[in-house]
Amino acid sequence: MTNIFSVLGDIPTERVAERLGLEVVCGRINCLWHDDTRPSCIVRDGYHCFACGARGDNIDLVRRALRCDVKPAAAWLGKEFGVTIDYTLSSTDIAEYRAAQSDKRMYAQWRRELISGLADDYRANDILAAVWEREYEAGCECDIDYGKCKRIMAEIDYIWDQVMDDDEAKRLWADGRYGAASYQTAHNAPNSAFRGIGR
Ligand SMILES: [Zn+2]
Repeated sequence: MTNIFSVLGDIPTERVAERLGLEVVCGRINCLWHDDTRPSCIVRDGYHCFACGARGDNIDLVRRALRCDVKPAAAWLGKEFGVTIDYTLSSTDIAEYRAAQSDKRMYAQWRRELISGLADDYRANDILAAVWEREYEAGCECDIDYGKCKRIMAEIDYIWDQVMDDDEAKRLWADGRYGAASYQTAHNAPNSAFRGIGR
């Protein structure tokens, strides 16, 4: 049986945001998870806020915007986008979905910790300064030291996405070797592009 959650998850998130009445500017919305004054939250394959780190799928976005639970959110998405939910979502379906979401959140937390470790390291090497000049010289709202700037941390997060092979990250996660060892692997392995930022 087709997994209805993956079907709903495949609807372009930008369209979902629009249908929710959220203003989409260059693929971003004002974040619904923090007090956002400029669009910081990317809506593509789910959402990801550069400023506060909020991350989730279409259903999470609908839940937040409409203040509802999983089932009504799924029903709303189905209705708006013509996806037939041809069976009743059972409590087992929803429990499985929630377990997968919880896994994703733990994975995101682990990943954040790795990124934060990398950021500390690269800060020492002035890589962050280079990123700062490239992206945010024109004016970041945080009027503070770049090393503490959340937007820079978000940028590092974004670079990480491009540099760190996702399968590799997932393998480390699956092996349960997160922590110092996987940080070392992440640091040593496929990060040549990351290093290139400073050149
Ligand atoms: Zn946010």
